[in-house]
Amino acid sequence: MIPTAEARVPILRGFLLLLMLSLAGTAALADGETAPARDPKQPVDDAYTAKIHKYTTQPFFTSPLVDYLPASKSVPTPEVVLGDVAGAPAVLPYAEDVYKYMRLLEKNSPRVKVFSIGRTEEGREMIAVAISSPENLKNLEANRARLAKLADPRTIRLDDEEADRIVAQAVPVYYITGTIHSPETGAPTALMELAYRLAVDEGPYLREIRDGMITLITPVVEVDGRDRMVDIYRWHLAHPKDFYPPLIYWGKYVAHDNNRDAMGVTLKLTENVLNTYVGWKAQVLHDLHESVPYLYDNTAGDGPFNAWVDPILTDEWEMIGWRNVSDMTKFGMPGVFTHGVFDTWSPGYLMFIAAMHNGISRLYETFGNGGADTLERTLDPQDYARTWYKQNPPLPKVLWSQRDNNNYEQTGLLTSLHYFNENKRLFLKNFYLKAKRSVTKPGAEGPAAYVLPADDPRAGSQAELLRVLEKQAVEISRATAAFTVTLPVKKSAKPKKDGKDSKEKDAPAAPTTRDFPAGSYIVRMDQPYSRIADALLDYQYWSPDDPQKTPYDDTGWTFGELFGVLVTRVTDPKVLNVTMERVKEIHAPAGVSGEGTIYAINNNAEPSLATLRYKLHDASIEAAEEPFESGGKKFSRGSFLLRNVSRAELKDAISDLGFEAIPVSAMPSVKTHAVRAARVAFVHTWLSTQAEGWWRIALDNLGVPYDYISTQTVGKISDLNAKYDVILFPPVGFFSSPTAIINGLPSTWGNPLPWKNTPETPNLVGKNDSTDDMRPGLGWEGVRNLESFVAKGGVLLTATDTSRFALSIGLADGVSVGNAQKLKIVGSVVGARLVDSRSPIAYGYDEKLSVYCDNGPIFSLSSISGARGGRRLGGEMHTRPTGRGTMDDPDFAIGRPGVEVPEEPKAEIWENPLLTDEQLHNNFRVIPPANRARVIFRYADNKELLVSGLVEGGEEIAQHPAVVDVPTGSGHVVLFSINPVYRGETRGTYSLVLNAILNFDSLNAGRQLAEK
Ligand SMILES: [Zn+2]
Repeated sequence: MIPTAEARVPILRGFLLLLMLSLAGTAALADGETAPARDPKQPVDDAYTAKIHKYTTQPFFTSPLVDYLPASKSVPTPEVVLGDVAGAPAVLPYAEDVYKYMRLLEKNSPRVKVFSIGRTEEGREMIAVAISSPENLKNLEANRARLAKLADPRTIRLDDEEADRIVAQAVPVYYITGTIHSPETGAPTALMELAYRLAVDEGPYLREIRDGMITLITPVVEVDGRDRMVDIYRWHLAHPKDFYPPLIYWGKYVAHDNNRDAMGVTLKLTENVLNTYVGWKAQVLHDLHESVPYLYDNTAGDGPFNAWVDPILTDEWEMIGWRNVSDMTKFGMPGVFTHGVFDTWSPGYLMFIAAMHNGISRLYETFGNGGADTLERTLDPQDYARTWYKQNPPLPKVLWSQRDNNNYEQTGLLTSLHYFNENKRLFLKNFYLKAKRSVTKPGAEGPAAYVLPADDPRAGSQAELLRVLEKQAVEISRATAAFTVTLPVKKSAKPKKDGKDSKEKDAPAAPTTRDFPAGSYIVRMDQPYSRIADALLDYQYWSPDDPQKTPYDDTGWTFGELFGVLVTRVTDPKVLNVTMERVKEIHAPAGVSGEGTIYAINNNAEPSLATLRYKLHDASIEAAEEPFESGGKKFSRGSFLLRNVSRAELKDAISDLGFEAIPVSAMPSVKTHAVRAARVAFVHTWLSTQAEGWWRIALDNLGVPYDYISTQTVGKISDLNAKYDVILFPPVGFFSSPTAIINGLPSTWGNPLPWKNTPETPNLVGKNDSTDDMRPGLGWEGVRNLESFVAKGGVLLTATDTSRFALSIGLADGVSVGNAQKLKIVGSVVGARLVDSRSPIAYGYDEKLSVYCDNGPIFSLSSISGARGGRRLGGEMHTRPTGRGTMDDPDFAIGRPGVEVPEEPKAEIWENPLLTDEQLHNNFRVIPPANRARVIFRYADNKELLVSGLVEGGEEIAQHPAVVDVPTGSGHVVLFSINPVYRGETRGTYSLVLNAILNFDSLNAGRQLAEK
């Protein structure tokens, strides 16, 4: 075949790179540096090495560090488990096989130790493999004790000289984690072989790493997802001509977002890695990913960097990253770069566990094929384009193998380990300094502490927030007596231009104080892990003028706001002198005071009220539709009144939930309705399960039961009301257009895509859902079933994209979605305001609420069916029509007496537009008042919209409905513009969903109807 012009280019380039490669050996090293070379006395495993070469598609896709395998008489190579070499085509091991190999290494080498670090949601084991000299492994505990002193400088009284002495003796720990993202499949085999090399290779380059430091490896982070991915790959191998199903589930709950859990620590994998990182007092956490050619050190980006990381760390990122690029470039490996599009603002990534615990966070994106097939890959122009940080870009078109990927991963890691080891005294000292700067925070940048008051009405949610901090290894204390702090003086208003009020302006505002009761929680900032507490509890501000226009992830996350609990940032250092004691375990105060036949529980929108309802099957629970008082205590609207429950039973059920049950002598005189344990269907698509996974884990943790069914199943159940009272249809996330939800994936061509357990795919389903073919969607039958479910009295609850869906198929009348022109809310905390406190959905909430929003749909209301929401005078017209006089004057026509203009009925943006008599005349389109949308919460006014993060063009969504209950037929469609359940971070808005569930058959309670 005659090579085309396009094909010739890589050949020529390959030749040039070969030339570079041949020069690599002559590259000068800095003084005292060890060259990357093997020990000539150590034999090579020739057969294994031959296969490495065979599977490497170009000679420049490897390095002198990994283009051979040293032989060992006693230690088995990965081949004994894999049946081939690491990175071989068609070979993808299950986690179990990876562990089997690591344990073989442990058995056959005194340089390897395997530790179990916990289990996943589906019960699979997670491990960490330590590789070092036998000497180091023997002294693990003594070394850990040394590192612990650096990690907590209070133990050595912040004594720098003592720190230097420890730094001189301590052996650092570099922690590597693989395949958190399940379709990124290369890391486990790369790490198996890396472990072998570190255990066996006698070349000075490797020996120095082994003797000088401890390499700790978790080869598979998302173990549940790994096993599913291997299943899919095996299915693909068995059906080579067919399309194979996309990996719809990774872990039990979430997919790609498993790497966005390092704030909320909701998933087991995060908790296990965090505990390992903190427990080992490691200096680095290096997480391996695959998406970008060929090795992108995605550790540091082009900003804005997270505001809570120490500048010492951001320098370390650059040092290690650029050195990595330099080393691999000298090996002649193309396409290695750092910097890039990442912004490093959000601390939600797994690797950020290190950044937030005084270590060094690192992340690689290497190039993966999503399996172990060798494929011809053609890059996007942006990927092979030259930029200032990519002077040696990848090639536009290559044959790429899993072995190539493994070569890059191992070479990058080995050069990193070596460089880190050579500079370990510097990095250990930095580790100490970052910890010391965390401890001295109150006297430096502050604050001194955060205080969570003992009288927070949401004790249960407060405890949950404190438990997150506890998981983050943050020390929590409790004041043993009441105390007072001085609050920072508020900045005075901007000086007036005319300068007349200069005296007034100059008068300093008087400092104010704040009292906190005994038992208030104090999170001291003079502790080594103050950084993470500060990052979670503080506010974020991302300027719309920031040069970075495409935030990589969320821009705001302030946990106190999103949990709906009170958190005060205290700068007054006197708070540190308050008498307090360390809290070992967080317990929300809960109990039953006294004995009675009726118990009342105040409603403060605590999600665990739903837990209680489902726990107490036999109790009769009613909700008060109005506030009431009993025995001198005030109870808010929605408070529970319980009967048919013994004190003992109640006490047992309530323990740790954070509320108190109070016996009342009689039912209050206010109206009540039953709070029943609704039968809930939880609907997912076969398009994406990412966003709904966070809803599932929230409900599971709260003990709210549901049937987990797909849109396909909805299409098959003609009488949904017979089985369910409430259908939750949480956000879909990716591929969420209404047509995709209805039609599913294309099915007029191609083969069925099964998601079920078979001998080839034993792990796919777990306890999730299954189907013979993922392609069909909800279908029109499903639309009809949903419609009939609502018409016959069911409650359908949707959020963000599923709200769009519900509106687009006409399930709820009187609400429309506008198109945003300028709006830019990128995962921010925004303000919402209570509109209808009588709606059961609002039970327990205050006037102001902070919510998570990511460019939510802009809802507008109309009182006329089929009309788009909008003002009568038109979108831009807010005043009188053009004519004579001033804006408030009446107009007149020449030659006739003036007439009164009838008053225009006025409604706010969040209210149903009022109707004129003209509009009402014989208008069958007018929605009867009882069927009009009922707005529960709206977005705050524009100037109060931003709470934390980025809000630009907020006027487009400000004041618009955020949570709406639309009565439809005999049922309801409850629409959310916000996402109330997200990444374990939004506990404060969970009750909006739970209230709809608990009051499903009384949602019209307290409704006040328009007159016409
Ligand atoms: Zn990834």
